[in-house]
Amino acid sequence: IAWNNTVLRDITGAIAGIMSIGEDITQRQAVERMKNEFISLVSHELRTPLTSMRGSLGLLKMGVYDNQPDKAKRMLDIAVTDCDRLGRLVNDILSLERLDSGQVTLVKEVCDVADLIKHSVEAIDAIAEAAGIAIQVTPLSAQVYVAPDTIIQTLTNLLSNAIKFSESNTTITVGVQHQSDCILFHVTDQGRGIPTEHLERIFGRFQQVDVSDSRQKGGTGLGLAICRSIIQQHGGGIWAESTLGSGSTFYFTLPVYKESVQ
Ligand code: ADP
Repeated sequence: IAWNNTVLRDITGAIAGIMSIGEDITQRQAVERMKNEFISLVSHELRTPLTSMRGSLGLLKMGVYDNQPDKAKRMLDIAVTDCDRLGRLVNDILSLERLDSGQVTLVKEVCDVADLIKHSVEAIDAIAEAAGIAIQVTPLSAQVYVAPDTIIQTLTNLLSNAIKFSESNTTITVGVQHQSDCILFHVTDQGRGIPTEHLERIFGRFQQVDVSDSRQKGGTGLGLAICRSIIQQHGGGIWAESTLGSGSTFYFTLPVYKESVQ
């Protein structure tokens, strides 16, 4: 507790008493600490591509590759990749901050689950095809009361991860099930799987199973944190199950739409 003391004086100026106001600062300190941790994580994540880009451009500027156009081009490619990564990081960081600070008002409407899945699969189909991965949909007619763009963003994120961490000639299945009071979505892949000790951790910010995942797979480590924030704001839950080496399933729930509940 932080004490704020004020000396009280009477009209003659003599000390009449001391007023002490105690403020419980533990919660404020915790919020402050989380903010500082986030800022140091963000700075670290932004600095990595920036340092790499500065390195490549610096070498080019010094003329190190003036007589080696192939190497010069490679350096430029690295700089462009770093630039793209910085762009993705900034977008994801802003998206997450806006979601978590309540700046995003979810404009909800009644949506058909099959439509949400259809739009998400369409958005990612070309990437799946290029990777030689089939997406199978097992739809169900159900309605949910959601902000459609954010649920499509969640599904697209999960599908994009499923593609990134699967080999060609495998199948991803997407579907829904009616539970007693919610709709349960699932995205199942036949990919590399996730070690049990990482299943919960990967929903945290900048958390990846393998340190090489961000460079090799181009991710930011923020996708699942964004998904969790979106689903929690809809009153649902999101989690993963996996068997190492044979695949993973990501589940999320959304409350069933009932006409009386809006
Ligand atoms: P990223 O941008 O790295 O994909 P995410 O937050 O979406 O960030 O995912 C965090 C990490 O979780 C990934 O880097 C990867 O290590 C792991 N992961 C996510 N989805 C899968 C999946 N379907 N199969 C295997 N690993 C996954």
